[in-house]
Amino acid sequence: MPVPLADRRLRAAIFILLMLSIALLVWQHLGLNRVLRLDGESTYQITALSDRDEGGASVATLQRQGQRLLFDCKLKPDYEWPYCELRVSFSNDPHQGIDFSRFSHIALKVSASGTGAQRLRLFLRDFDIGSAKADDPLTWRLNELQFEPRADGSEIKVPMRAFNVASWWLNNNNIPIERAAVEMQNVPMLLLDTAGVREKADLQFKIDYIEFRGKWVSAGEMALFIVALWLCAAITYLAHWQLRMRSTLAHSREREAELQELNAALMLENAKIGEKAKRDPLTGALNRAGIRDALLDEAARALDEERPLAVIFCDIDHFKRVNDEHGHAMGDTVLQQFSALLRKRIRQRDYLVRWGGEEFVLLCPDTSLEHAGQLAQSLRYSTEANTWPTGQTMTASFGVTTLATEPLATFLERADRALYEAKHRGRNTVVTLPPPV
Ligand code: GH3
Ligand code: MG
Ligand code: MG
Repeated sequence: MPVPLADRRLRAAIFILLMLSIALLVWQHLGLNRVLRLDGESTYQITALSDRDEGGASVATLQRQGQRLLFDCKLKPDYEWPYCELRVSFSNDPHQGIDFSRFSHIALKVSASGTGAQRLRLFLRDFDIGSAKADDPLTWRLNELQFEPRADGSEIKVPMRAFNVASWWLNNNNIPIERAAVEMQNVPMLLLDTAGVREKADLQFKIDYIEFRGKWVSAGEMALFIVALWLCAAITYLAHWQLRMRSTLAHSREREAELQELNAALMLENAKIGEKAKRDPLTGALNRAGIRDALLDEAARALDEERPLAVIFCDIDHFKRVNDEHGHAMGDTVLQQFSALLRKRIRQRDYLVRWGGEEFVLLCPDTSLEHAGQLAQSLRYSTEANTWPTGQTMTASFGVTTLATEPLATFLERADRALYEAKHRGRNTVVTLPPPV
């Protein structure tokens, strides 16, 4: 069975969308990696600080050795909270920090050697535009991660949710519980320090890298995008389908209107053909078939309503001579003119019938014998007085009668008889025969 084109297209579209969805999911899973790496080649400003700035005696030094950072710390417990610190500044403007919430993991490849506790703390200071002061970094949220470099210097990888907000920072800044959670949307500064170790120590840290890893687009975002893609495709398809249905409907309505028009034209044509069959083509008068129904109707009505119905038989006198002397075409013209003369003199509701050859019949409803006789006389006179194309005078004979309660054949025969009588009396005559009482 052949599959319709629209179905094939729909299938192809679904297949393409499916492939695209799978490709996007795979791409999200395997690619789209976002990495922020700190090492000896980082372009960010990295500085070593210590408690010496606050009156202590500790000494911190930083060296870049290729890709590596060498961070040495000689801790002297002269100060209350001795520390060495590495400070990475991402931006001088605290409003323009880095959004670390986009990362899912942090990976650290750091090894430590020397004497003393080797624990480190990593801080991401988040500048909250609403509550922090730009000129006081101590008010910047302190997201903290404590770790101890592995003895073999292998990578430590932990999820970003391992960060906590340092509790002493929350206390010092009187942060309400509602705002105590980790926030790292705008981090202008990263710190790595040795704080918490009070005794004397001589430490060397080799930092291969500190890497923040994540995806440009999260799995959830990608899923949402794919759902949106399918929704858009479905909506587009439905809209397209609706438009197509509408145009199909409009088209079929148009076709229907056309067919109706055609039907009407055909009916009109049929009516015309029917009408033609009832008329004599030469004179336009009704023929015998054409008068049949009207004769039956008028006769029935006349008898029902007791109204007179008259009939006048007319026959041109010596018409044969016209043909013989002037030709058949002239005969036709005379016939046309004679029928026109009759039609002009009768009422709209009278019927003119070409009974055959040069013989015509007039059927006159609501007409008494007397009036019909008068009409016949006036027709006889008009015929005689008319100027004919033959250049000769022409006359006609008339037989008149009215309908009684009798068969129609009897009625017509009586009129015919009256005409015959008129011919017999020498033509150019009207003979009226009253119906039998
Ligand atoms: P009468 O006075 O007795 O009626 O004589 P008439 O010559 O009129 O009558 P007749 O019946 O002898 O001749 C009628 C002629 O009419 C015969 C025929 O050739 C002619 N005719 C009949 N139909 C037509 C027609 O359609 N066209 C023409 N040109 N002549 C026709
Ligand atoms: Mg005749
Ligand atoms: Mg005749």
